[in-house]
Amino acid sequence: MGRLTVSSKGLAWHQKGHPWIFRDDLEAVKDAVPGAIVVLETKKGRFLAQGFYSDRSKIAFRLLSRSSEKIDARFWERRVSEAFQYRQRAVLRTNAYRLIYGESDGIPSLIVDRYGDHLVVQTLSQGAENILDSIVAVLLKVFCPLSILLRNDLSVRELEGLPQEKKVLHGEVPSRPEVFEEDLRYRVDLWAGQKTGSYLDQRENRFRAGRLLTGKVLDAFCYQGLFALHAARRSPKVVAVDSSADALQQARENARLNSLDHIDFVKENVFDFLKAQTEAGERYDGIILDPPAFAKSRGEVSGAARGYGELNLRALRLLNPGGILVTASCSYNIREETFMDIIRKSARDSASELRIIGRETQGADHPILLSFPESHYLKCVFLQKLT
Ligand code: SAH
Repeated sequence: MGRLTVSSKGLAWHQKGHPWIFRDDLEAVKDAVPGAIVVLETKKGRFLAQGFYSDRSKIAFRLLSRSSEKIDARFWERRVSEAFQYRQRAVLRTNAYRLIYGESDGIPSLIVDRYGDHLVVQTLSQGAENILDSIVAVLLKVFCPLSILLRNDLSVRELEGLPQEKKVLHGEVPSRPEVFEEDLRYRVDLWAGQKTGSYLDQRENRFRAGRLLTGKVLDAFCYQGLFALHAARRSPKVVAVDSSADALQQARENARLNSLDHIDFVKENVFDFLKAQTEAGERYDGIILDPPAFAKSRGEVSGAARGYGELNLRALRLLNPGGILVTASCSYNIREETFMDIIRKSARDSASELRIIGRETQGADHPILLSFPESHYLKCVFLQKLT
């Protein structure tokens, strides 16, 4: 088994609980094969932990266990079963959810999403890639899925020297299986949809928005239209905007599937749309802003902050007093307090008085590991405009 020797700085970091060790915090690497399970030890050779080794990424070690337990087929089965047992208690009213969320479920850089009888898998490191066969064997045993699709078309894999690929691992993968979320049905494009087909992380915020929003509602950055569908059950008029024709086609199909015919779908850049609506004197009682990640790296933070600021300012100007703004940021690099500051500034600039009626995050199927800030990326704030 390969062995990694950690520096004093790396040791302190490890002891604080963070599940990664960066290459710069290693003093020596002995017999470690790329993607293999290795032992992490102190300079004096004391055992610290076992984990995945990567010879390419800046993240050289990803924690699997702080004990010397055997990491074999039974280990993977235990981790998958524990993840599933937790979801059975924590995830309600849907058959589409994240079953394995990497580090938070003790299997670093592995993603498994469940869409009814179909599973989608992503391996984001050399280590996760290496255990794929064992994981697929466990998934087949525990879930008997009709199909398993590998959606490894993610650019982060390049940091690990891994290729982009999509392939069927089991069964026949349907192009757009139907799933449900509360009493709504929707179709998911497993092969080509964004993420693994759907933004599962926003589900609980959609439930909440569906209960809170009334009157005339705008779903900005609607993708498959899920916020719009939830809102449309109570609201007499919903407008849903996205710049992607494919997203809108899916959203329209989902609206039809639920016989919701009072949603207007608009293909436009949201920034332009909000501007034009202000000029036209339009007003809304509820607005959802769920943009893509504007800050994909630390260097993009200030530009992203300007983007979020502009969006929130424009949305607040369109919101009627008493109306509700649901505003999200899925950029890990924009931390929660920064996002709150952006919202505060937009409130001041639009002379709106706001109260927070929900300060939410990703759903319970994406649990946040306390010692791993990287597992907390989604902020979703519910605000009511008083004046
Ligand atoms: N709210 C959705 C997820 C939104 S993902 C849900 O709950 O499922 C972000 C969406 O924004 C994507 O569909 C993308 O096509 C769209 N998008 C990105 N930039 C945009 C822009 N400038 N204007 C309009 N839509 C945009």
